[in-house]
Amino acid sequence: MTDCIFCKIAAGEIPANKVYEDDDVVAFHDIRPIAPVHFMIIPKTHVDSLAHCQEEHRSLLGKIMLLAPKLAAEQGLAAGFKTGINTGRGGGQEVFHLHVHVFGHKSQGN
Ligand code: 5GP
Ligand code: ZN
Repeated sequence: MTDCIFCKIAAGEIPANKVYEDDDVVAFHDIRPIAPVHFMIIPKTHVDSLAHCQEEHRSLLGKIMLLAPKLAAEQGLAAGFKTGINTGRGGGQEVFHLHVHVFGHKSQGN
């Protein structure tokens, strides 16, 4: 989708502070963090929201969910973290490209 900011980040057309990238997904720090550590995991392919996901997105969703604790630990959140998927305007979604928020506080000793 040409006018989607997260598609542009996924394509490398807009800079982002990336923490992970592969052929299917990219993870990067939120530009307005709500916690000391706050990044998002997105699919590289455009999907408007969780409510727009179809059966074909099953493995992509699973991959993103399995990445969340792995990347969280790498970012210092091994003791625990929060996740969030804002869905639709009523759900507080502002960027209509599916993304999973991962955020929390670094624990001592991490
Ligand atoms: P939503 O409310 O849609 O779940 O959250 C979208 C998030 O994307 C917000 O937390 C916002 O700070 C973040 N965001 C919006 N534009 C950009 C951007 O250009 N770069 C980065 N890194 N984050 C962004
Ligand atoms: Zn997009």
